[in-house]
Order: sequence, then C-alpha cells, then structure tokens
Amino acid sequence: MEYRHVLPGAMGVSDNVLVGDMVMPDGEWDWVRLESLLPMTILLCITGMKCRFPHFPHDELGWNGTVSEKFTVKSAYYIQHGVEEGPNEDIWRKIMSYKGTQCMQIFLWMVCCDIIMTNYERVRRHFSNDARCTLCGADTEDVDHVLRRCPQAYLTCKELIQVEKMDELLRLDIKVGIKCNLTNPKMFAKEPID
Ligand SMILES: [Zn+2]
Repeated sequence: MEYRHVLPGAMGVSDNVLVGDMVMPDGEWDWVRLESLLPMTILLCITGMKCRFPHFPHDELGWNGTVSEKFTVKSAYYIQHGVEEGPNEDIWRKIMSYKGTQCMQIFLWMVCCDIIMTNYERVRRHFSNDARCTLCGADTEDVDHVLRRCPQAYLTCKELIQVEKMDELLRLDIKVGIKCNLTNPKMFAKEPID
C-alpha cells in the first residue's frame, strides 16, 4: 500500500505536516517550501511524481493497484500473480494472440462473450423454461457450471489443474480465470508429463 500523503520526519517538519500543505493553490508543488526542507535526492524523486492534490483534496491512504486508488480484491489478485490489470477488453487481446487451434480460439471467444448455448442461455432467450443441468440436476446450467462445476467437468479440471490451486481457480470469475491462464499458462496447470 502506498502511504501517499504524509511527509514522515522531514527535516524540522512536524509529523503532522501533510502533503497537501506542500501544494500551491494551483495544484503545483510548493518547491520553495520543499527545497527549504528536503535534500536534493528526495526533491528529485518528487519531481517525477505528479501532484494529485486538486483531485484528492483530503489526505488519506491510497491503494496503488488501481487507478481510483480504491482497494479491490481483483487488483490484489492481479498484483499477486503479476497479471496486468485492465478493462475486460484486455481479454480479447489475449484471445487474439492465443497460439492454439482456431477452433479453441473461437470457443474461448464464445465463452467470454457468454454466448455458449447452455440451458441457462436457452431460458434467457426464451427457447426453454428449464435451466437445470441434465447431467447432475443443478438448478442452473450456465457456462461456468458446464466448464468447471458440473461433477464431470470438475473431475476433468482436477486432471489438468494443480490440486492446491483448484479452490483458488474456482473462486475466480471464469473470464478472469481464462485471462490468467492465457497470461501465464503455468499459473494453474499441472506441469506437462514428459
Ligand atoms: Zn451439472
């Protein structure tokens, strides 16, 4: 977490001085005051920082993992796994650069568009009034159920995914899981058997 707004123990400066006190009314750093308090090495670091005071009028902690600086579990997950955060559109770029068969590429695209004709999708399109899974009887056969949660699909996943990573993968939204796999195939998959 980035501790954004306090100047800790600067020379001769009270710990109560806030970053906001070092900003001019026009939103620029108050260099005169900063230069009287801080060594050149620190000033050079500050030079590279954009002053955000006009947009963040109150001194507060900020999360460095999102543009809004608000903490989200998703952003923490991305940071932990070294996955670039970005809008959902990023998934399409990952699918476009997928190196497998074209058939699988199209399938991934359909999954991420949520247009696989599951029973849930049939009900949603008014083709049917029964969204249940015909294999296991679960109330909703959506794409997540078909690919990961239906007992038969789960058994297949267990063959392919590291045992200790199964729960973690299932907690992820299916699109995020696909994105993680495309970004770093070794994140969840078992090592290939030679
Ligand atoms: Zn099922």
